[in-house]
Amino acid sequence: MVMAYDPQNIFARILRGEIPNNTVLETEHTLAFRDIRPQAPEHVLVIPKGAYVCFDDFCLNASAEEIVDFHRVAGQICALLDVQPEAGKPGYRTIANAGEHGAQEVPHYHLHILAGRPLGRMLDLA
Ligand code: AMP
Repeated sequence: MVMAYDPQNIFARILRGEIPNNTVLETEHTLAFRDIRPQAPEHVLVIPKGAYVCFDDFCLNASAEEIVDFHRVAGQICALLDVQPEAGKPGYRTIANAGEHGAQEVPHYHLHILAGRPLGRMLDLA
């Protein structure tokens, strides 16, 4: 199954201003906003403004400027949430679901940043 970029996906609609979002940070290339169904006390999504389907699409096809901007914003979110381990804070988890096996729901690349409680092991291997 090919997961093509769908310009009607919910994050594309957020970027066009067609539906509201709870913005945390915005730059020329990147938007960070709160997840509508938070799975931890802090749950922020970081998305590029460009039309990239998933992690590898973004890494392979985005410009260096977009890639740097995206990761700077992600780092700034960690600082805003006050969870940076290197500053003695309790940490967080980033997740990028991709495609069918990754259980990706929205076909616009996004990085989840989850924090605010112990998050358990990465995967339930049972
Ligand atoms: P994924 O399964 O990785 O594709 O995650 C998609 C995420 O988008 C889920 O955590 C949803 O709760 C979140 N989501 C869906 N619609 C919205 C919305 N309108 N605003 C904020 N987050 C949303």
